[in-house]
Amino acid sequence: MDDIAFVALGSNIGDRERHLADARSRIEKISGVVILAESMVEETAPIGPVKQGPYLNQMIALGTSLPPAELLARLHEVEVLGDRVRTARWGPRTIDLDIVKYARTTWNSPELRVPHDEIDNRDFWQRELAELAEVMI
Ligand code: ATP
Ligand code: CA
Ligand code: CA
Repeated sequence: MDDIAFVALGSNIGDRERHLADARSRIEKISGVVILAESMVEETAPIGPVKQGPYLNQMIALGTSLPPAELLARLHEVEVLGDRVRTARWGPRTIDLDIVKYARTTWNSPELRVPHDEIDNRDFWQRELAELAEVMI
């Protein structure tokens, strides 16, 4: 487990707590990934133009030996297992998994941008990252 990645979980359909919990246990089973720390779960208002219910959000810190693109591919599989249906961007979803930050790496392709474009704009991500930094020092 060479690197640390920060992954944001979000859910705003159905049993949101359960979707987060299912995703965490599926992430824990990915080969080359361990969960190092978890932030508190917090409720946030939806972002973007689509009318939808509030989200539960959480950030987790992963130790991983997978490079960023491979980690994203595995996270997409966890989304599918969580019944994620891809409709509009920012639309409602059972589970959303975003790579917010990956060690000191930057990545810039159409499929993956790291750090995530919105890292500085989402207060809840900043709070959750600060919380993780505190417990991991
Ligand atoms: P946002 O990324 O603004 O939170 P979203 O999560 O609703 O929006 P999605 O529809 O889940 O957006 O994802 C759209 C695409 O974003 C994905 O197919 C993925 O390839 C791409 N993407 C780019 N950078 C990242 C990243 N850091 N983490 C996750 N997906 C990313
Ligand atoms: Ca997202
Ligand atoms: Ca996403």
